[in-house]
Amino acid sequence: MMQFDFGTLLDAMPDAVVVADMDSRIVYCNSSVEHLLGWAPGELVGQSLHAIQPDRLHAAHDAGFTTYARTGASALFGAPIRVPARRRDGGEQDIELNLAEIHDAEGRRLVIGVLRDLSERVELERHLAVMHFLRATTAAAGRLWTGLEPRLVLQTLTDVLVDDFGAALARTWRYEPDANVLRMVTSGGLSTRVTGSSREVIDVATYPYKVGIVARTRTPFLRTGLLGDPDFDEDWVTKEGLQSVACLPLIAGGKLLGVMVAFFRTPLLDEVAEIIGHIAALGAAALNDADLVEQERAAHAAAEQARSEFELLARVSERIAGSLNPEATAEIVAGELVPELADWCVFDLLAGVELRMVAASHRDPELVQEIGRLRAQYPPRKDIRPSHPILRAVEQRATLHESVSDADLRSRAVDDAHLAMLRSLGIGSHVVVPLIARGRVIGTLSLIRRPERAAFDVEEARTAEDIGRRTALGIDNAVLYRSAQQAVALRDRFLAVASHELRTPLAVVRGNWELLERRLRHDEDRARTDMEPIQRRLSRGIDQLQRLVEDLLDARRIRGEASDLQPTRTDLVQLVGDAIAAISDPQQRGRVRAHLPATPMVGLWDATRLAQVVTNLLGNALKYSAPADPVDVWLSEAADDVHLAVRDVGIGIPARHLEVIFEPFERAPNAAEQHYPGLGLGLAVSREIVTQLGGRMWAESPGEGGGSTFHVEVPKAASSG
Ligand code: ADP
Repeated sequence: MMQFDFGTLLDAMPDAVVVADMDSRIVYCNSSVEHLLGWAPGELVGQSLHAIQPDRLHAAHDAGFTTYARTGASALFGAPIRVPARRRDGGEQDIELNLAEIHDAEGRRLVIGVLRDLSERVELERHLAVMHFLRATTAAAGRLWTGLEPRLVLQTLTDVLVDDFGAALARTWRYEPDANVLRMVTSGGLSTRVTGSSREVIDVATYPYKVGIVARTRTPFLRTGLLGDPDFDEDWVTKEGLQSVACLPLIAGGKLLGVMVAFFRTPLLDEVAEIIGHIAALGAAALNDADLVEQERAAHAAAEQARSEFELLARVSERIAGSLNPEATAEIVAGELVPELADWCVFDLLAGVELRMVAASHRDPELVQEIGRLRAQYPPRKDIRPSHPILRAVEQRATLHESVSDADLRSRAVDDAHLAMLRSLGIGSHVVVPLIARGRVIGTLSLIRRPERAAFDVEEARTAEDIGRRTALGIDNAVLYRSAQQAVALRDRFLAVASHELRTPLAVVRGNWELLERRLRHDEDRARTDMEPIQRRLSRGIDQLQRLVEDLLDARRIRGEASDLQPTRTDLVQLVGDAIAAISDPQQRGRVRAHLPATPMVGLWDATRLAQVVTNLLGNALKYSAPADPVDVWLSEAADDVHLAVRDVGIGIPARHLEVIFEPFERAPNAAEQHYPGLGLGLAVSREIVTQLGGRMWAESPGEGGGSTFHVEVPKAASSG
């Protein structure tokens, strides 16, 4: 083997060669070191390797070298690495470093490093990179302003950093000034969590790492060489080969809008750092514009909502004004509100203490019937479901505005079928408005949105309330109008019937009175002998008049004017017997066949009122059947009530009129056509009395000519009070 002077050979190499021992002490340098780093070879020998390393790398070097000296293992061997070296004048010099282990004649371990000057290459690379980044920046500017939306801007920023600037990891945070926090919006590149800086929400006041500091000081942080900085996890930085970081505040119009951070696997050239600064400024400007656009959009949407609510109100008001029927009013409004304001809605009106659903509408028309079924099967009744929203709204006389979760539905549902119904109709939020007119709650308007739709906001709840107020007025007006109409109709009926019916007995009385007078004046003898039939006719006429007048007076009761019942100890058997005995015409009385219990039927009832009912039924049965036909009366007793039935074989009642005849002034056509006298009031008065006694009353008839049976059922319980 040829012998070389290795020293001469090494000095002739353009690359610098440095050899160090296991204490990290330089034992040899070739002469090229001077050219590269400015040190005369002799000056370096005996010094620590720190002499040719930038200060910030010392700690990392020491740690790595100690491990290597002990174990012989190092990640830095085998392939060239790119590091900064320190020149004699303190400046830094980019070098490519190749490391290997050698042994001297005594077998001691030494490390040899070959340092290659990268200045020219770096210069060229720098040039190319700057060109590339400038181009990328120009392209990015265009992308940042398309689809101006804050999130999109930040996403574009991240994409540009990763795709065009080759960032290994890029992230953006949005600044929320009210809470003084940064909230992470986008992350691109490495998915590995960055120790210390990977928090999603960062408290700007206290966060000790770079992102927090940058936000606090509003000052960019750019650095090549991450090893040795406690902010960056060394293992992670080494493993990912990260060399530099740029963390910049996004500031526009003097306001901090966010922070962006990018890690690179290359050193950050000054020019590139500057370009990244531009990118941050561009991003911030785009973000600011996007914010403005969004504010504009929100304002526009709010204005749009206000306009459509206003239109809805106007439309509803107009339609309410046009309707004079309470149910129709509710129906119309329900139709207007769905689906614009709600997915479904229900109108309830209070009838006494009970809620009656008068209108419902659902955006899915097939589900309207489901609402009906729901209300029929699971009515909002105080005794069973006192916390039903409708009842709460009525009780508190205040609008209820709530979100409803599935858990709420589960706790509200009476059973599984109920829950299934509620879910199929869909309840995510509701507004229940009590309808108040003239100080009284007259019903409720329930507006419901399905869970997939945004819940009612405060504005919408207010609109619902407004609509409720208007509808309440409309419904109240319609109710007033209807009762006024009914009162007028009833009065007209009353006058017509009364004048017609009074005319006949009046004529009888007047005629006979005149006859009597004439007789008395001209022919006293004859007058005396003929007196009796005239007197009889007179008294019958007067009786009839009196009955009519009493009927008319009784008619007042029908309008719901409560009469005071006066319960006394009453024997019903005797009461019915007395009513029969009171029939003045013996022939008529003789037609009645009583089927009464042998023993008294005693209880507490209003005897006068009950007698009136019995008399009325007996009178009708006799009146509406042939003069010789029988009338049967039954009285019987069951566990809880007593039952009276009066049957005749007379003119009968057409099926269609079996109910109507209980209305005031209503008569069946066959009675009127066959000129039976009558006001059509007796049955109405009778039913009112029976209802007040807590009982019921109804008629049966096979039809015209088939006779009729009238039934009265009165609870015994009513008699005890
Ligand atoms: P009025 O007998 O004075 O007409 P009511 O109220 O007592 O008044 O009866 C209402 C109507 O019911 C009668 O006009 C008649 O058409 C029918 N009606 C009542 N009782 C009978 C009966 N026993 N048979 C047939 N129709 C009857």
